[in-house]
Amino acid sequence: MRVRVTLVTYASLFVLLATVGWSIALLVRLRDARLRALTGLLAAVALSRVAVLVDPRGSWAVDVSVPIEELPALGISMLAVLVLALLDQTLSRATGKVRIIHDPLTGLPNRIHFMDLLDRVRQRARRQAKVFVVMLLDLDRFHRLNASHGRSGGDHLLLSLAQRLLRCVRPEDTVARIGGDEFGILLSLGRGGQDAIRVVERIEMQLREPFRIGDQNVFATASIGVVVSETSYDSSEELLRDGETAMRRAKVSRGGNTYEFFDPAMHQRVVSKLQLEADMCSGLQDNQFRLVFQPLVSFATGRITSFEALVRWEHPVRGMMSPAQFIPIAEETGLIVPLGDWVFREACRQGAAWQRAFPRESGLSVSVNLSARQFQHPHLVENIGNALISALERTGSVTLEITESMLMHDIESCIHVLEQLRGLGAKIHIDDFGTGYSSLSYLHRIPFDALKIDRSFISGADSTESSRPIVRTIMRLADDLGVEVVAEGVETTEQAEWLKSLDCDYAQGYFYSKPVDADAATRMLETQAEANGNAMEWRAAG
Ligand code: C2E
Ligand code: MG
Ligand code: MG
Repeated sequence: MRVRVTLVTYASLFVLLATVGWSIALLVRLRDARLRALTGLLAAVALSRVAVLVDPRGSWAVDVSVPIEELPALGISMLAVLVLALLDQTLSRATGKVRIIHDPLTGLPNRIHFMDLLDRVRQRARRQAKVFVVMLLDLDRFHRLNASHGRSGGDHLLLSLAQRLLRCVRPEDTVARIGGDEFGILLSLGRGGQDAIRVVERIEMQLREPFRIGDQNVFATASIGVVVSETSYDSSEELLRDGETAMRRAKVSRGGNTYEFFDPAMHQRVVSKLQLEADMCSGLQDNQFRLVFQPLVSFATGRITSFEALVRWEHPVRGMMSPAQFIPIAEETGLIVPLGDWVFREACRQGAAWQRAFPRESGLSVSVNLSARQFQHPHLVENIGNALISALERTGSVTLEITESMLMHDIESCIHVLEQLRGLGAKIHIDDFGTGYSSLSYLHRIPFDALKIDRSFISGADSTESSRPIVRTIMRLADDLGVEVVAEGVETTEQAEWLKSLDCDYAQGYFYSKPVDADAATRMLETQAEANGNAMEWRAAG
């Protein structure tokens, strides 16, 4: 067969063949662009080598023919392209598998693979009406460890952790690394909540052993979120999201080193928390927060010596809310800083007003509670100083209440901050004392003025109760440290009398008065002013 074509036609044919070859390369998923181009070229040369013979008559036309001796070369070229393509595909598949579905550091399945497995288990669980468990583990303060031991130290720990986690599960379970320091654990179908707890306990055991980084022993803790999928989930993302919510709760609300189960009510709580957070922002702008005041009464004189300012939120929909319902969220979101600032200024303003109205009550003060986040805020001293200067003429009339747990983190900087606050004329009370597991060994170094015994010990201090020795011990401790004692939560005459017999300095509680608004507190001070400095016996009305 001989075909006569012009040079232009021949060039077009070459380009066409190259394109066909290139397209085939693309079709068989040759990933390397150079290899694709080479395949196209090879195909074009091979096919057009079908024979190009210059027209013996010297015209610009070419003869294209298929001489029989060219056929093996053509076959070999095509075969080479095919082999190359297949080889490339196999190689890319093999290497791709390791790279795409496994975490290169630990060799564990990665997030994508974990999600695939989760999907399969979820569908099987639905078909077979079986339960299964997903856990999310996140190391606590891993960034700090990375910062102090370097990335390679962090990597080393992650690798050891991966190995330890594998020891905590059965071979049919899955451990995956789904993020930097986040691991996913999928227990096999049919394993439920009880199994989850057992696995968590094993993990906690494993974490009790230190990790060896270089020549140092490093301890790590983790927060674990557990989802027991009894209800049917529509997607694996949902499952993972719920695990994450539970894990965050373990980490943020419970301070880490623990685990939390996700339950359906939990998601609802997250949603309403977000709503509350948004409401709180607008509540601050719209002045929805109020202060109520609860008197502290001196055992020696029976008179009110100060008021503790306690915040309330007049929520437009939910009504009056107590601090327990919103302070933790304010803490978590950082809104406690502007809220606390408002509380402090408002309490100072009220305190100054009372001091002006009742000049004879020389020692009258207001107490304000500080939250942990406020206490750690770098501008705390400055803010408090400014508020004090603008609101109060006299020093010694503001008390700041902090809890023991706030003192646990960085003792030296706590001491420094407290000294500065005292320098501004503020008194320091340690609130809820007895519940925070403070290390008694450093208590003597902390500059403070009084211990407030937690109300749980006072309400339990009715004659037969076991709290009495604790209260006595705290009294003795305060005496040794040379500080005063306030008993919180005094509710009955017996409690008041017993505390008085112990030489307790001040009492606070429903026995004297519930927290009341500023007007009612002012009326109390008016009554007290009428008694003209004489001893009194404060009692709650009714
Ligand atoms: P706290 O500082 O220990 O305040 C005492 C709490 O005990 C108050 O609860 C008070 O109403 C309650 N209480 C007083 N006497 C009695 C009693 O005899 N029996 C019983 N059962 N309870 C009594 P409240 O106002 O709900 O405040 C709870 C906590 O919220 C406070 O505990 C304090 O830690 C925190 N808080 C209140 N206001 C603020 C604030 O402005 N800022 C910050 N950061 N925390 C605040
Ligand atoms: Mg308090
Ligand atoms: Mg308290």
